[in-house]
Amino acid sequence: MTKSPLNCPICGAGTDFVGQIFGRIPPNQAYFLRHCPKCHFSYISNPRDDYATIYSEEYYRGLGADPLVNYEFDHQMPDLTLRQYEWAGLSRIFKSLFKASYQKATWLDYGCGLGSLVAYGRKRGLLVSGYEPYGDPLKDSLSENKALTETNILSTQDLAGREFDFVTAIEVIEHAADPLAFLAQIRPLIKPGGFLFLTTGNAKPFRSNLIKWSYVSCPDVHVSFFEPETLALALSKNNFRPFNAGFLPGFAQVIKYKILKNLKFKKRSLFFDLCPFSAISFLTNLKYQVTAMPIGIAE
Ligand SMILES: [Zn+2]
Repeated sequence: MTKSPLNCPICGAGTDFVGQIFGRIPPNQAYFLRHCPKCHFSYISNPRDDYATIYSEEYYRGLGADPLVNYEFDHQMPDLTLRQYEWAGLSRIFKSLFKASYQKATWLDYGCGLGSLVAYGRKRGLLVSGYEPYGDPLKDSLSENKALTETNILSTQDLAGREFDFVTAIEVIEHAADPLAFLAQIRPLIKPGGFLFLTTGNAKPFRSNLIKWSYVSCPDVHVSFFEPETLALALSKNNFRPFNAGFLPGFAQVIKYKILKNLKFKKRSLFFDLCPFSAISFLTNLKYQVTAMPIGIAE
């Protein structure tokens, strides 16, 4: 089949035009949102490829295409940032998947940005390293402030021939214009039987009104949108067995982070620490089906 932006990048079927969305860089840049009626993948059919422009220093400071991220603050103030809830949740998910052997299990955070999750895990004795595929523009833009980048970040060369027990890609796949190629890059990094744990929003509850969904509101950088079955198909095309692990311990904290982030909170607080979020996270999950997205088990 000929590759065309009008054919689904996941299953190859013809797709429908959903609508036009406007980005921020430059202001009012127009993007076209399409949807595949067969596998329910949705995507921006005219994505940017000038990564050094969109993943600029401003982007990492929360002043770029996605105003809800501020990686610099997360890295400089790890005990203060709201993201601490997400990191704690992910560490708990990691421990629950590996049970007693978690201290020996190796973890790679793929798309680690400045490496804040890596630093969080290392401080707690976890064997976590990071890799940032857009590392070069990142290093260039932040080279004057080297202290910002975590030391356990691997280069592309370091990764050659390495395999990990667990790979996370936290809110990364929605940035990939070719998600099958993205998964194909990751698969050799995981030992057979190891896990790919990726987070991205679940488009299914928003299928009838996709254009209003918060994930599609920053089309300069968010270009690929999945439903659970779409992600399962993409995983199975790359030698992963899709597996629904359900509401693993740790998900309550990951969802707590997502709720507070979307309410525009930036910092954690004693009130949020003590708030009984388990029930709120559980109810939120019923609506948004965060945990319906499958994990990939490397075959
Ligand atoms: Zn499709």
